Amino acid sequence: MLYKVRDEITKDYDVIIIGSGLGGMTAANILGRHGHSVLLLESHNKLGGFATWFFRDDRNHVFDISLHGFPVGMIKTCRKYWNKEIADSIIQLKDVRFVNPQFNVQTDFTKEHYTQVMVEKFGVAKETVDAFFSFLGQMNFFDNSQMTNGELFEKFFPGRNDVTRFLMEPITYANGSTLEDPAITYGIVFSNFMSKGVYTFKGGTDYLIGKMKDELLKNNVDIKLQAKVEKINIQNGKATGVTLNGKVIRAKAVLSNGNIKSTVLNLTGEEHFPKEFVEKTKAIRLNSSSCQVYMGLKEGATIPYIGELVFTSQYPTYDPARLLDLKVSSRTFSVYYPKESRPQVENARVAIVSSTNCHYDDWKKLTPEEYEAEKSLMIEETIKGLEAFIPDIRDQLEVVEAATPLTVERYTLHPKGTSFGTKFEGLEVSMNLHKTLPGLFHAGSVGIIMSGWLGAANYGAIQANAIESYLGTGA
Ligand SMILES: Cc1cc2nc3c(=O)[nH]c(=O)nc-3n(C[C@H](O)[C@H](O)[C@H](O)COP(=O)(O)OP(=O)(O)OC[C@H]3O[C@@H](n4cnc5c(N)ncnc54)[C@H](O)[C@@H]3O)c2cc1C
Repeated sequence: MLYKVRDEITKDYDVIIIGSGLGGMTAANILGRHGHSVLLLESHNKLGGFATWFFRDDRNHVFDISLHGFPVGMIKTCRKYWNKEIADSIIQLKDVRFVNPQFNVQTDFTKEHYTQVMVEKFGVAKETVDAFFSFLGQMNFFDNSQMTNGELFEKFFPGRNDVTRFLMEPITYANGSTLEDPAITYGIVFSNFMSKGVYTFKGGTDYLIGKMKDELLKNNVDIKLQAKVEKINIQNGKATGVTLNGKVIRAKAVLSNGNIKSTVLNLTGEEHFPKEFVEKTKAIRLNSSSCQVYMGLKEGATIPYIGELVFTSQYPTYDPARLLDLKVSSRTFSVYYPKESRPQVENARVAIVSSTNCHYDDWKKLTPEEYEAEKSLMIEETIKGLEAFIPDIRDQLEVVEAATPLTVERYTLHPKGTSFGTKFEGLEVSMNLHKTLPGLFHAGSVGIIMSGWLGAANYGAIQANAIESYLGTGA
C-alpha cells in the first residue's frame, strides 16, 4: 500500500528500507516478492533517488537527471529483479561522440569498435589492445592488487595521454574516477560498459520509476513518501527499527540506502560501533559531485542529429583534476530526441542536458550573489559550447536551468552532493555493516563499483540476499 503523508504507521515489519534509490527499491522489490513484509521510507516526494526527473512549464518540458547511459547488464538485472516490461524498455545508445583537441571520434562504445579506433586511429598494436582488454576481463574483485588506473595505462600504453583520454575520460565523467583510484574499479566498470556499449531507458526516468512503483505495490511493499527517517534504533547491539516523526517503527532488519557515512555516524550513531569501525567510516572519502545545465527547446523546434552522448572538451590533454575545475571547458551533452527517448509523450520536446564533474567546496564557499553569478556564467559557457555543434541553438531554447552540488545535496541528502557515493574504501565499511551491527544493512552508492544505475541496483540485490540469510537465522 501507499501510505498518505499524514498516515501513522502502527505495524511492525520484517524489513524497513530507508531511501528509494535504485539500490533501496531493488532490495524492497526482491524482499517483497519473496513474501517478507517491507516498509520503504523515502524523504523526497517521489521514488527514485538520483534516478529522477523534473517538469517545467506545465509539464511541457521534462528533464532526466541521471539517465545518460548505463551498461548492458541493466537488462538482465531488470529482468531478474523487476519485470520483463522494464527490461524490454532498455535500448542501446548508438552514437557516442568525443570531440576534443586530441581526437574526434564517433563510436557505439563497443569493445570491437574501440579496438578498431585504437588500432587504426591511434596506431596501437592490435596485440597490445587485445592484451589490455583481456587483462581487464580477468580483473577480479577479490584480487588484492594495489595497481592504480594511472599504472594500468602506463603498463599498456606508456606515455599515450590520448589513448588514456579515450579510455578513461568517459569513466571520469561518469563516476568521478581518477588516475589514482584502484585499477580494479576501472576494470569492472569499463569491462561492463565495453562488452556491448551504452544503454538507456526508452520512455524516460518518470516512466521507469512509475513502472517500478507499480511492481513494488504489486509485491506488497508498503511505501511512504515525504518520510525522512530521524534515527535507526539499536537495542542490545541489534537494529530494531527506525524513528520517523518521533514515532518508533519496529522491524527485524533495517536497510539504509542513504550515504554510508551518514548511515553510521548520524542515523545510527557512533556509540553503537567499535572505535576502529567508526574511524574507518570517518576516513572514507566522498566522490566528487556534478553540475548540470538543463536546456528545453521550443515546441516544434528541431535540431540536426549530433549524436546522443557527446563528450566535449577544449582542454589540450586528459587531466582528471581539470575536469573538476569550476571554470571547466569539458562537458558531456546528453541529447534526448523525443521520438527515441519519450515516444509515449505527444509533442514531446527536445531536451539537452550538459553535465560536468565538480567540487562541492568550490560552490559551497560562494556568497549567494557569487553563486547566482557563477550559475549564470556556467549556463552561458554551456550554450556557447553547444553552439559549436548547433549554431542557432540559442534561438531555439525555451527553458534553461542549472543545478550544482548544492542542488544535489538538497534533494538527495548526500553529504557534499556526492553523485557517486564514496571512493573504494566505502565498500568495505558498507559490506561489513551488518557483520558489525546485526540487523543493520547498507545498499547505497559506494566504492565506485556499487554505484551508477547498474551498480546500485545490483548492490540492492546483494544486500536483499544478505537480509534474507539474516531473517532465516531467526532474527
Ligand atoms: C547528475 C548525475 C548524473 C548521473 N548519471 C548517471 C548515468 O548516466 N548512469 C549511471 O549509471 N549513473 C548515473 N548517476 C549515478 C546514479 O544515478 C546513482 O549512482 C544511483 O542512482 C544511486 O542509487 P542509490 O541506490 O545509491 O540511491 P540514491 O539515488 O542515492 O538514493 C538514496 C535515497 O535515499 C533517500 N534518503 C536518504 N536519507 C534518508 C532518510 N534519512 N530518510 C528517508 N530517505 C532518505 C534519498 O532521498 C534518496 O532518494 C548519476 C548521478 C548524478 C547525480
